[in-house]
Parts: sequence; C-alpha cells; structure tokens
Amino acid sequence: MLTHRFRESVRSDWTAVAFFAGNSSFSFILRACACVDVFGFSCTESRMNEEETHRPTIRSGVGGGAEARKRQDYLEWSEYFMAVAFLSAQRSKDPSSQVGACIVNQENKIVGIGYNGMPNGCDDDLLPWSRSADDRLDTKYPYVCHAEMNAIMNKNSATVKGCTMYVALFPCNECAKLIIQSGIKDVVYLSDKYHSTPEMEASRRLLDLARIPYSQFHPKQNRIVIDFDSISRSGPRESDGGCAPAVNGEVLKLGTQKSDTC
Ligand SMILES: [Zn+2]
Repeated sequence: MLTHRFRESVRSDWTAVAFFAGNSSFSFILRACACVDVFGFSCTESRMNEEETHRPTIRSGVGGGAEARKRQDYLEWSEYFMAVAFLSAQRSKDPSSQVGACIVNQENKIVGIGYNGMPNGCDDDLLPWSRSADDRLDTKYPYVCHAEMNAIMNKNSATVKGCTMYVALFPCNECAKLIIQSGIKDVVYLSDKYHSTPEMEASRRLLDLARIPYSQFHPKQNRIVIDFDSISRSGPRESDGGCAPAVNGEVLKLGTQKSDTC
C-alpha cells in the first residue's frame, strides 16, 4: 500500500499537481504562498532505495564524485497520456465538468487531444452552460462537444485507426459511436461515475458489440507535479532519485471537483 508522507516547504515555486482521483472529476487550484504543504507518496522512494542496493552506479569524475544515474521517477506511458488528458481538460470553459481525452497511436505518439467545449465558431458566451433548465435548449447538452469528439476531430494524423484513447470519464454513447467509427481500437478511462446511466449502458453495449475493449486506469500515484520553476533551478532537484510528486511549492491541483458529464 502506498503510504503518505507529509512535506512542507518554505520555498515559493510554481508547481502544478495533477490528482488522479477515484473519479474523473478534478479541481484546478492555483495558489501562491510562501509555504505550501504537499502530501507525497513514499512508495517510489522506497522502491528506489531497495533498487539502489542492487544496481551498479556510474560515478562522474576521477576517483568518483556525484552519482550519475537514470531518473527513477519518470512517468510511465499510461500515466503520461492520462496526465495529458487531464491537463487538456483545464482548457475547458465548462463550469461544472472539465474532461480531457488523448489519442495515442501504436508507436506511443500522441495524435489527438481534446476537451469539452462549444463547437468552433460558436460564441461560448452566447450558449448556455447550465446543467438544468425548464427548456433543454437552455442547457449546455444540445451544444457542447465532448472531449472524445474533439480529440478525434483534432487528430494530426490521417487516421486514428488502431489508436488508443485515454479519457478521464468513461465515454457516453454518442462518443462510443465516434470511437467505433473512427477505428480506435481500445479505450482507457479513469472514472466510471455514471456507470448506471442509460448513456453508459448503451455505450458499453456498442463497444462490446464492436469488440473494442475498455479498461479502467489505476494510477500508481494520485498526483503528478508540474513545477514551472524547476527548469530555472540549478543542482539536483529535491525529487531526483526520489519521489516526483513530493515537489513543494505553489500547487495546481487536478483532482476532486464534481463533474457531471463527459
Ligand atoms: Zn460523450
């Protein structure tokens, strides 16, 4: 099991933290203060320490000096692609639901990214963002384009046939149609919070009939840190050889805001 570790810092950094929560929704908090507390997972460090005792090290300089060793806290492919989907979601203007999708080809190259939003050329100040209204035309639902649609339409390759889609929420039935018709071969999602709705049931029926597998993503770490200030710092980072999420500073969190639709 992962164990939490508490860290605190008096350093003022610009740090982004992406939380992969138990559901696909997320919050986006950007705060600036001199002392920020960050919970990090110690599992990575513990694992690395165990490996240290077995791995030969390469020392730089005559007689040995600073150890030059491959980073241990780099992102795995699946974490990377899901994080891209979450980061893309932060472009969404939807006040209640921010969802991102990332399409990856068989060479692990990203060929499409999208997030939920109003159609191109349609002034999103003139369209409703409400989830409910007496008239459905006064809600967002007839107008908004889901992340999956936009990721497919935004593709920078001739086709997405044979690709994998990473998406924060399990795709609805309309997106399932697009996924099937576009030739995407499998879907990796993070949350299935609307599992029992007719839209999701219909989606599963379609994907099953089309023999498109879908699997839930279980991140090894609940957050990923993007520290804009790290590039300017010299010397070893605090996380070098340690735990990537445990970077301290200003935090940008993606994690636990409620979300209503994909
Ligand atoms: Zn959808």
